[in-house]
Amino acid sequence: MASWFGHGSWFFHRVDLHRGLRDLATRPAAFEDIDIGPPVDMRLGCEVTGVNCEEGILKLADGRAIAKDLVIIADGAHSRLISDFTGRPSETHRTGRSIYRWLVSADEVMAEPALRGLYTRELPGFTGWHDPNKKVFWVTYTCRGGKMLNSAVLHDTQVDEDEGDAENLWHSPVSKSQVLTMVQNFHPSMKKIVTMASEDGIKVHHLYKRPPLTSFVRGRTAVVGDAAHVMLPTHAAGAGVAIESAASLEVLFRGVDGKDGPAMKQRMELFDRLRIPRCNLTMLASNAGPEWTKVPGFEEGVRKFYSGPLPPLGAMPYSKPFREVLFRHDEFQAAEQALAESMSSEL
Ligand SMILES: Cc1cc2nc3c(=O)[nH]c(=O)nc-3n(C[C@H](O)[C@H](O)[C@H](O)COP(=O)(O)OP(=O)(O)OC[C@H]3O[C@@H](n4cnc5c(N)ncnc54)[C@H](O)[C@@H]3O)c2cc1C
Repeated sequence: MASWFGHGSWFFHRVDLHRGLRDLATRPAAFEDIDIGPPVDMRLGCEVTGVNCEEGILKLADGRAIAKDLVIIADGAHSRLISDFTGRPSETHRTGRSIYRWLVSADEVMAEPALRGLYTRELPGFTGWHDPNKKVFWVTYTCRGGKMLNSAVLHDTQVDEDEGDAENLWHSPVSKSQVLTMVQNFHPSMKKIVTMASEDGIKVHHLYKRPPLTSFVRGRTAVVGDAAHVMLPTHAAGAGVAIESAASLEVLFRGVDGKDGPAMKQRMELFDRLRIPRCNLTMLASNAGPEWTKVPGFEEGVRKFYSGPLPPLGAMPYSKPFREVLFRHDEFQAAEQALAESMSSEL
């Protein structure tokens, strides 16, 4: 992986990734001799209730209105602010698929002779099993330096078991017996990974989709992340493309005077031109499932936004040609190049 992409493949506990990103964002400007810009001033507990996207004005729950040169909407899959951006109700909707998620101690897993062999191989990546009859896909990987084992069980939402409760949009607890029923066709040794979970440790998370947006910018506002392109986790790419959008913003807005209207407009347009094809490709590919290239209508849909290469029709899902298209992208490079081209065309 490192020789191919210039970097290894890492698996994170979500909390650790959040902490690492926050540490980087709030570090002093010079870090290990690299200029990482001024530290971010994070203000927690400031709920935003609305955005005037054209003017860049945030409305806060405490009644304040704050004007900014640039506003980035990033309020996730259940975005309320996206309605202010598009001018219509959110089009995010449930898919009928959900995920059970939990963590167990890797030491406990390794103590089970039948399980140990699954996690001591040299190969990187995740270990998963599929029950085609019940349409269950169980993915596991170690994280936190190999100390924890993460499990995700993709399944049809069990409405009869209260999984369809609208109040519990994500992170609602679910019993071990419910998960064991779902994975009843798997080998008994694997079911031990369920019984190892703490009593209230398994959560269910509904999966959502939205139709693609045709623009991610409006006035002084851009939209990134799940608010812009929530997707099924088929390719584990949602946060990846959100982080790419952050890279794009970093390159495009470096040194720009926020009061310079024409410069801001030009950079917003560049952001849109870079991110719409890339994010909508990733979203549509993730929503079409592992064999996305074979799904009727997929290519026609994606070609409305993206003109680059697609994996050849006969290629195996998750194989190199798929990863080449989805993961080889370098947004720092793409944004630098787009910026340089736009500057030279102005001369
Ligand atoms: C089961 C599962 C597995 C996944 N695995 C992967 C993976 O392996 N790799 C990958 O790249 N992606 C993965 N994803 C996708 C990834 O989790 C999301 O794409 C990512 O979290 C989106 O980040 P975000 O910042 O846009 O939204 P979020 O992470 O949802 O963050 C939104 C933030 O906005 C805040 N907020 C919300 N409303 C307001 C408001 N009104 N005012 C102020 N703040 C507000 C929230 O508190 C939250 O902090 C997975 C998703 C799922 C469901």
